[in-house]
Amino acid sequence: MTRLIALNRAVLVLNQNYEPLNVCNFRRAIVLLLKGKAETLENGRGEIRTASSFFELPSVIRLGHMVKRPMLPPKLSRREVFIRDQYLCQYCRKQSKELTLDHVIPRRLGGTHTWDNVASACVPCNLRKAGRTPAQARMKLLTVPKAPPSKRYRDLGFYLEVRVEWRKFVPA
Ligand SMILES: [Zn+2]
Repeated sequence: MTRLIALNRAVLVLNQNYEPLNVCNFRRAIVLLLKGKAETLENGRGEIRTASSFFELPSVIRLGHMVKRPMLPPKLSRREVFIRDQYLCQYCRKQSKELTLDHVIPRRLGGTHTWDNVASACVPCNLRKAGRTPAQARMKLLTVPKAPPSKRYRDLGFYLEVRVEWRKFVPA
């Protein structure tokens, strides 16, 4: 999804297993429908008439075949961790612009540099926790760290503001 398609003409394309794949314009969607490669799941964006035919404009279509595209989480980086944690320290819940990346189980204790072992921490919390586990430091994590959803879902946010009929197809 590199370019944004005019909001009213955008069609959400689902994979055969109902996972969101991408957004296309309605012309592309109608070609897929006419070729029998997709089915309409949601209408409701008006209609088009040509000399010989009439189409309801699709809003959500589903491919009849499976497109293999793994749903990868974003690459692990400080920035992506802060975005995932909404720039909140995961220990004291304060929003901060000076966050640090905390390894929940410290690396020297065998903790990994993976999505389920990293959390945003403000400087005071990081200093307090030092090289200890949350249990040792008696500090509680706000949420259990895990990999965030694929960027593909994040990119859909722009449309979901307006296209409410898409929301039920897109994991939160
Ligand atoms: Zn904090």
